[in-house]
Amino acid sequence: MDVLPLIGGAIQSVDAALRAGKLIAGAEHALDQAQLKLQLADVIGALADAKVQLAELRTAANEDAEWTKRRDGYSLVKTPAGGLVQESKADPKHYACPACFESDREIHALQPVGHFEYSGSMSCPSCETQYPVAIPRDPPELERDYDPFSR
Ligand SMILES: [Zn+2]
Repeated sequence: MDVLPLIGGAIQSVDAALRAGKLIAGAEHALDQAQLKLQLADVIGALADAKVQLAELRTAANEDAEWTKRRDGYSLVKTPAGGLVQESKADPKHYACPACFESDREIHALQPVGHFEYSGSMSCPSCETQYPVAIPRDPPELERDYDPFSR
């Protein structure tokens, strides 16, 4: 969540409340009671807007704190095959997709592609990006006794 617009909105609401409050405080006797009530309603409305925006900010701050805690459980590592992936610090040890990690704040454990020992690759179950993780082994040579051209 982008918090800057929320902060700007909260500040504007508080500013509006302060301006209306100053008008009320500086009101002269000529100002009738109806105008005071109208300005007081503006102050209450602006403060209510600020309260909502501050609640949204609190939610965003909580989400950031939660993400930071989850993110700290991983570190960017280079695999033996040269891929850059996120690696969990806790068991069960696993690799996670660095693209989803950075762009979406999501953690998806990488899964082996095909016969992992021959592919050496793992893919993200969300964005399906493949990463070189291990040095692949060569597949075994097939030995055939049958030669169709030797007859
Ligand atoms: Zn991904």
